[in-house]
Amino acid sequence: MNLLEKKDAVRTAKVFRAARKQKGFSQLELSKKLSITQGTLSKIELGKLSVSSSIWYEFCNLTDLQPEWAWGLGVVDRPEMKNKITSDQVGSFSLPEKYRLNRGTPARSIRALLGYFAAVYGEKKLNDYMERIGVDPDYFLVLSNQININFSLDTFEVLAADGRLKPENLKMIANAYSNPTFHGALAGRFHTTGPEVHENLITDLIRNAGHYDMNFNYVIESVQNGVVTISIAPSEHLKAFNYKRGELGAALCSYKQEILKSFVTLGSGSSGVSPLAIEERECHYKGAPRCLFHVRILN
Ligand SMILES: [Zn+2]
Repeated sequence: MNLLEKKDAVRTAKVFRAARKQKGFSQLELSKKLSITQGTLSKIELGKLSVSSSIWYEFCNLTDLQPEWAWGLGVVDRPEMKNKITSDQVGSFSLPEKYRLNRGTPARSIRALLGYFAAVYGEKKLNDYMERIGVDPDYFLVLSNQININFSLDTFEVLAADGRLKPENLKMIANAYSNPTFHGALAGRFHTTGPEVHENLITDLIRNAGHYDMNFNYVIESVQNGVVTISIAPSEHLKAFNYKRGELGAALCSYKQEILKSFVTLGSGSSGVSPLAIEERECHYKGAPRCLFHVRILN
């Protein structure tokens, strides 16, 4: 394989693993359906073998993927597949019980956290961590897959114990949101040109918030004189969790603000300077029923 073929093979390997497990197929089952040996499928899934177009099309047919679209992404992204909080279905992915119930965090947003983890500690440490907690990293290659809030909280705790949950760290994690690629199939929903671009971006994001977080309800309360008022209230199912966890809750509130600041630089080449000033008027982690932000757009 030349370099380009190698890149293609690594990308398709991810899609193969993700879509196969999503369908609940074992390697043996899928290889039979594709009329190839399990050894061949194994090589494909390790990125060691290029996929012929006939196998690719048959594979997409078997796993309900759109062939052209799935090829380029290296992930499985089907935004219509959300709202599955209570589902027990996890295909043939390994996902421990403690992360299964009341799932409300889509892989789409978990990837920001894991990307940061890998950037700081390396891919190997990330894989070791996932193995230790029994979570298949491929689960997050299907962007609509969900995991419950304990997963983010536990991972944030690991970072906090290592002094990596300071404001600058939260800003780095949230930085993923400024990258159009991060948003996959949703990227086209965001208005990155035209007048009032930042105001539109904020409202676009809140409108699509369910694709990123179903643990909280995000509402635009008003838009007035360049100030967007946003409320973020816990969903009913959060009562099943000790989700505030003392200091950690305050950090998560800051993280949401950093996400907003980062997201509105989408498409601007990420100058690193956010055009937003956020003032929090009420905070759920300080006893209020919700967090309430006044988001001012700076000119
Ligand atoms: Zn708050």
